[in-house]
Amino acid sequence: MSDATAYQESAPETNPCTTCGACCAHFRCSFYWGEADDSPGGTVPVDLTEQITPWRRAMKGMTSKTPRCIALVGEIGREVGCGIYPVRSTVCREFPYSWQDGVHNERCDQARAAWGLPPLPSSPEHK
Ligand code: SF4
Ligand code: SF4
Repeated sequence: MSDATAYQESAPETNPCTTCGACCAHFRCSFYWGEADDSPGGTVPVDLTEQITPWRRAMKGMTSKTPRCIALVGEIGREVGCGIYPVRSTVCREFPYSWQDGVHNERCDQARAAWGLPPLPSSPEHK
């Protein structure tokens, strides 16, 4: 779910998300149903989503006891990507990796910890 998913927005050597993906297989996040492409202006492929409330959809796989977004490709902690990167939902777009633009994101740390990955350092290469 990350802007985890700034996956292709910066080079792999400067974007920690390309070797992580933990948040796409940890949180049970959802988004406004109108972001799915069966709604005018929606972009997220509706077939990859499920309705979870009258107003909210989630990516398939995210409501499982062991969540993993159906659009996540690759191996968590090694090399990953978002299969719908250009059309992902706002909840994905707006999730920054920790220390992106110098701001700590505890939820990034939580997701990484759940997958046995250390928190990202607040070092300049991740800002
Ligand atoms: S749609 Fe992409 S960014 Fe969002 S949770 Fe799934 S794999 Fe992650
Ligand atoms: S947990 Fe953090 S570093 Fe890992 S993919 Fe998500 S935002 Fe990126």
